[in-house]
Amino acid sequence: MPISEQRGRRPSPSGAAVATPVHSRLTVLSGPSGVGKSTVVAELNRACPQIWISVSVTTRHPRPGEVDGRQYHFVDDHEFDRLIASGALLEWARFAGNRYGTPREPLYAKLEAGVACLLEIDLAGARQVKQAEPDARLVFLAPPSWDELVRRLTGRGTEPAEVLERRLAAARQELAAADEFEVTLVNTSVQDVCRQLVALIDKCDLRKAERGRHSGPPGRRRHHQPADRRAP
Ligand code: 5GP
Repeated sequence: MPISEQRGRRPSPSGAAVATPVHSRLTVLSGPSGVGKSTVVAELNRACPQIWISVSVTTRHPRPGEVDGRQYHFVDDHEFDRLIASGALLEWARFAGNRYGTPREPLYAKLEAGVACLLEIDLAGARQVKQAEPDARLVFLAPPSWDELVRRLTGRGTEPAEVLERRLAAARQELAAADEFEVTLVNTSVQDVCRQLVALIDKCDLRKAERGRHSGPPGRRRHHQPADRRAP
C-alpha cells in the first residue's frame, strides 16, 4: 500500500477524511546519465544535510573512489535477485548492462518519521515510484545541450566505449521523457540547480527532517538533497 494511504489522514472542512500528501516529502531526481545528478546531490548534501538520500543497490562494479554503502550498496546478481524476490526494493531497473534498485525499508522508515527524502534514479525507476507513490515529486535534471551531455559523459573517462554508447542511447530516451516530470531544472551550474532545489523544499519538511535526524538512528546516506513540497 502506498505510504500516502497508510498515514496522514485528516478531516477536511466537510468532515470527510482526506489523505495528507505525506509523499510530497519524497522527491525523485532523474535525468540522463552524465547530466550531473550525483554532483548536484553531493552539493545538496553539503548544503542541506537534513534531507535523507537513499543509497541504492547496484550490480555495477564500484568506480575508483566509490565506497560500498556510501554511493551504492554493491551486490552481485544473486543478491540482487534475492532482494527483488523478497520485495525489498521499491523499484528497480536495468541501466547500461547493470541493475539498480531502491531499498524500500530505510526509505519508508524515514518518510514515516517525517523526514524529507530524495531518490536519485533513472527514468524507469522514477516511473515506478510515481506509480507506487503518486504524491512523490518528480524533478528532471536536463543538460544545457546535447553536445554538453556528450562532452560530460565522454569526459568522465570511467567507462569503456561500449558502455558509453549504451549510456548515450539511454540518454536520448530519457531526454524525450522530460515532459513526464513536474519540474525540469537545467544544469547550467551546480550551485544554481541546488538553489532551485532548495527553493522547492518546504521549510516545515525541513524542520521535520531536522527532528528526524536528531531523534532517530542514523540512516545510510548517499549524499543529501532537498525535497520540495507543494502541498500543505
Ligand atoms: P551510475 O552507474 O552512473 O552511478 O548510474 C547509472 C544510472 O542509474 C543513473 O541514471 C542513476 O540515476 C541510476 N540509478 C542509480 N540508482 C538507481 C536506483 O536505485 N534505481 C534506478 N532505477 N536507477 C538508479
